[in-house]
Amino acid sequence: MFVYLDNSATTKPYTQVVKTMMNALEKDFGNPSAMYSLGIDAEKLIRKSRESVKDLIGKGRGEIFFTSGGTESDNMAIICGAMKNGKRGKKIITTKVEHPAVLESMKLLEKRGYDVKYLNVDKYCNIDISEFNRELSDDVALISIMAANNEIGTVYPIQDLYERKPPDTIFHSDCVQALGKMRLHHVDLMSFSGHKIHGPKGIGGIYIKKGISIHPYIVGGGQEKHMRSGTENVPGIVGFGKACEISRKNLSDDGCEKISKLKRYFKENIENEISDIRVNTPENSLSTILNVSFLGTKSEVILHRLEEDGIYVSAGSACSSNKKGESHVLRAMGLSKDEIEGALRFSLSGFTTEEELDYTLDKLKKAVESFRSIARRR
Ligand code: PLP
Repeated sequence: MFVYLDNSATTKPYTQVVKTMMNALEKDFGNPSAMYSLGIDAEKLIRKSRESVKDLIGKGRGEIFFTSGGTESDNMAIICGAMKNGKRGKKIITTKVEHPAVLESMKLLEKRGYDVKYLNVDKYCNIDISEFNRELSDDVALISIMAANNEIGTVYPIQDLYERKPPDTIFHSDCVQALGKMRLHHVDLMSFSGHKIHGPKGIGGIYIKKGISIHPYIVGGGQEKHMRSGTENVPGIVGFGKACEISRKNLSDDGCEKISKLKRYFKENIENEISDIRVNTPENSLSTILNVSFLGTKSEVILHRLEEDGIYVSAGSACSSNKKGESHVLRAMGLSKDEIEGALRFSLSGFTTEEELDYTLDKLKKAVESFRSIARRR
């Protein structure tokens, strides 16, 4: 059996996405800036996709600009947002559990004299609103807080936080994991990625609210209204647009409720069948993510045992999988060494079935028991 439970790392593209992209590659290959019909047709496809992204995020008073993905959108929002508002002050507020695309941007800004405050989280990855309030002051240039965490699935109260910010502070939210899985509250800058919603890799977008002007991050031929130069990735853009169209339908058809139910079913079965665990994901979380620590085990070993049975899961965050070492998120949550070492992330999608989860539970139970019995004999 093949069971893919690493949908927070990336997702399988929808068949319709692949077909749309193939068409764009084979037929609509013109340069969207060209003045003849081949170019105009490609330009029309981009316009249609932009509308599909806007429809999914919920129409707001702002514009979508296509980028190469979540990482570029995060870098652009944070670096350009902070620089633009640098006259206001050099203070930035973020959390300790953001994606590396955010945290590494913060490090660059720190080297340029910005003072970054990293909010703490509790044992379920929630931030403390009173700590956020204490950090607010008139010299805050930028706030960057994700809509939902990619390792744990914890959802953040973005609307509440946005309403508390000083009027001229720019608020950015990394919505890469949340897109298509929950209703988003519009803030000043928002980042998205295509491959987390069954679209292609290497394409994403940034939402910029009307009235917020930031300098472009990539300059050149002036595409994307001068906000992101470079000949447009038309196949990627149309694939992303198609994935947004399908995700919007799933969102309104309660597709996420179906995934939530499967996640609850899987979580309860793990709790009933496997002892000495800690469920790290809180009740109020993204429908797709379940993070569990199997105490007295090493997640990397369990992960490879599962792989032998055709099951794909992740230990920590697969986004930073080329980095060895502890997850910065689990560490920030204050988990013990044992809890961190035994943590696995299961991430579901609309393709996940109950049968796949039953099969996974059976293999997982055997892998955990075998690891523990070998460890006991040592
Ligand atoms: N932000 C979050 C929360 C993510 O989970 C990821 C990828 O996993 C990214 C940003 C980076 O997105 P991309 O892979 O499109 O660069």
